[in-house]
Amino acid sequence: MDLHERLLVQVSARDVYDAVALAGHPGSGLVFTGQAAHDAVRMVRRIGYDGPLLADRRRYAGSARVRGTAALSPDWIADQVEAGATAPLTDSGYIGKGDHEALHTILEQAVHWEGTIAVLPVHARWVIEDRLPLLRTVADYGVPVALVVEDGPAYRPVPLPLLSAGITALAALAYGAEWAAIGVREVLRHLYPEPHEVRGGWRRGGARNAFVPELLEFVPVERLGEGTCGCSTCHGRPLRRLAGAEELEVNTHNAKALHRLHNRLLRSTHRERWWQELTLTA
Ligand SMILES: [Zn+2]
Repeated sequence: MDLHERLLVQVSARDVYDAVALAGHPGSGLVFTGQAAHDAVRMVRRIGYDGPLLADRRRYAGSARVRGTAALSPDWIADQVEAGATAPLTDSGYIGKGDHEALHTILEQAVHWEGTIAVLPVHARWVIEDRLPLLRTVADYGVPVALVVEDGPAYRPVPLPLLSAGITALAALAYGAEWAAIGVREVLRHLYPEPHEVRGGWRRGGARNAFVPELLEFVPVERLGEGTCGCSTCHGRPLRRLAGAEELEVNTHNAKALHRLHNRLLRSTHRERWWQELTLTA
């Protein structure tokens, strides 16, 4: 079992009971998020889930996030291995604009833990102006990494695995990333800059958003248009019906519709071109 070309679904550790329904199809897998993520990994392994499983501690997000120069925890690595994670992720802090010290500190520690994936939560500038130094530094250390890209301007996809992404996860796969993870909720599809304004108050992260394949976008269920969906949850019914559906049904549609796109991507002979054409017509 490996992560090769997988499109993973990133969920909260408390979604453990719904998670398997979202990632039961081939080519999928799960990333649990938060301090108890390794416990969620252990639980779904115990009930027989055999797809890839990762645990993202996400110390890099929120108003109390730590800087990337913080010491990484070997206990966190050991806990994930013991729980049955496919590969352990580091509990990295945040790498701000131009913070080379943080980038090197994370990679320097990860290099000593064989098979560990170094999580690199970066300011958007790292994938735009500082893209070459980033790629060069990652190649120099030779450690497997996973990027988390903070909200910012659009950027050309980077051929590195992505955590906590939106539709850019598919873009990364099209451009040669080993694997990528799409968040099941809005808050897990973003890394918000801090401090940030809370948009939409309590609804942020709680609002149900449905993936609309024609638009390549997640749309709040109240604003869904006329289109229908052929996924195995919708069976050709109008997407608009999801306005009255439970969150799990909306998310199951999301996972299945994304899975269909992922399959098309894997079948295409020239993936970058396929992605470019798809985004032009969306
Ligand atoms: Zn659907």
